[in-house]
Amino acid sequence: MQYDVVVVGAGVTGCAVAMELSRYDLRVAVLEKTEDVCTGTSKANSAIVHAGFDAMPGTAMAKFNVLGSRAMPALCRRLNIPYKRCGALVLCFEAEDLPRLEELLRRGEKNGVEELRILDQAELRALEPNVSEQAVAALYAPTSAIVCPFELTAAMAENAARNGCNFFFERPVTGLERGGDGWTLRTPQGDVDCLCVVNAAGVYADELHNAVGGDPVRIVGRRGEYCLLDKKAGSLVSRTVFQLPGKLGKGVLVTPTVHGNILVGPTADDVEDKEATETTDEGLARLLSTARRSVPSLPRGQTITSFAGLRAHLARDEHDFIVGGVDGAPGYYEAIGIESPGLTAAPAIGSYLAGLCADYLKAFERTDYDPGRDRVVRMDELSFDERAALIRENPAYGQIICRCEGVTEGEIIDAIRRVPGARSVDGVKRRTRAGMGRCQGGFCMPKVMELLSRELGVPQTELTKNGGAPWLVGLTRKEEE
Ligand SMILES: Cc1cc2nc3c(=O)[nH]c(=O)nc-3n(C[C@H](O)[C@H](O)[C@H](O)COP(=O)(O)OP(=O)(O)OC[C@H]3O[C@@H](n4cnc5c(N)ncnc54)[C@H](O)[C@@H]3O)c2cc1C
Repeated sequence: MQYDVVVVGAGVTGCAVAMELSRYDLRVAVLEKTEDVCTGTSKANSAIVHAGFDAMPGTAMAKFNVLGSRAMPALCRRLNIPYKRCGALVLCFEAEDLPRLEELLRRGEKNGVEELRILDQAELRALEPNVSEQAVAALYAPTSAIVCPFELTAAMAENAARNGCNFFFERPVTGLERGGDGWTLRTPQGDVDCLCVVNAAGVYADELHNAVGGDPVRIVGRRGEYCLLDKKAGSLVSRTVFQLPGKLGKGVLVTPTVHGNILVGPTADDVEDKEATETTDEGLARLLSTARRSVPSLPRGQTITSFAGLRAHLARDEHDFIVGGVDGAPGYYEAIGIESPGLTAAPAIGSYLAGLCADYLKAFERTDYDPGRDRVVRMDELSFDERAALIRENPAYGQIICRCEGVTEGEIIDAIRRVPGARSVDGVKRRTRAGMGRCQGGFCMPKVMELLSRELGVPQTELTKNGGAPWLVGLTRKEEE
């Protein structure tokens, strides 16, 4: 089939582009090399909707950050996903650094961020009693917020699919060529033809860009490691607490998550391998000691898991996103170097790139565009009476599968049946939180596999944790040796 537009990559950027494209009368497909949406950088970040005081005025980063931050509340409402405007603080530990804090305030104001102000020590501690007494002042950004990156990405993909966009997983694009009036994308399963391409391939976006032409670019993975703390530590801070940013980025933060945990991170270390998402003892130790400068009572014993994500950092002097077309490549558009604040910026980048494709193809907005998505049931958010009524209607909502997070069979079945739905254990985990609690799936994983196997009609031996070769079950010790 020939598509009008093919989006390469189903991270938050690609799914935002797909969602915005589905407003138009266009045939749209997304090609993703892994088994699901949100498996790259979009699954491992701080989940902050940045207010927009950090990016340099006049940059694409500043523009898309502020536009994305403004768009996020309405987007989350219409897609029925959590959004919490918790606010953010940037701590200043030395009186001599106050001018840098003031500079951040002015930068934010230039970018159009509202309600920014500087707090003295007493105001700061009144807001956040667990913040270090060594902090002499802070920049306060009440418009900073938190979201769930998995739910945001999956919800945008579902909205795109509901409006006719086709998703193809385990479909890596290995090359592309201009031919006739369009593009041919090479994949191991065969060629895909289209009139427009949107490159949203995250840390690999440089490869497609360099194949198309224009000035060559190189993306370096800048790894950020995190510790996730148990909900028991959830009241440690109520706002996102940053330290004054340094050369490598916004520095280490301590933040609540929309699900009631505390997240501590990230580090910032450049790595050669674009798959190097492992954590290191050294990185985590460095992380916790830096974070304790902000919140001295941070408990290491409450860490329930650690993880790392790779920022798609462009190796060049200019610190900015590249969003748009490439001279001499008609119908080719890209989002490159989408490091932080890329999660925040995604809705704005999606709308901008979809608009460029629509203009190029002279497409019309559809009159039957459906802005929503099927309601997601979260049993732990319902009243007793609502739960009882739902269980009477569908007893699967009465079967608890993940005891730590209180996730039911009904919620897991729903996650698998959605389009695009969960195909792997991690796909279920990202959509429902089954396996995200204190035991990290120790108890519920076998049951999740049973449900995946039953719903997908495949034996458990063919299921995967997160795509690739099956390895979860099926090998006896003898076969392993
Ligand atoms: C440590 C860290 C902290 C961050 N914190 C924040 C934050 O708090 N707030 C914020 O706004 N931003 C934050 N960010 C940035 C944000 O996470 C990213 O900007 C965003 O997730 C990038 O999304 P993406 O879709 O461009 O890339 P990805 O999520 O990586 O998606 C790219 C997709 O393309 C696929 N792909 C790659 N090559 C191919 C191919 N050849 N064919 C088909 N598919 C392909 C990949 O499998 C992947 O699924 C952070 C990033 C990191 C690493």
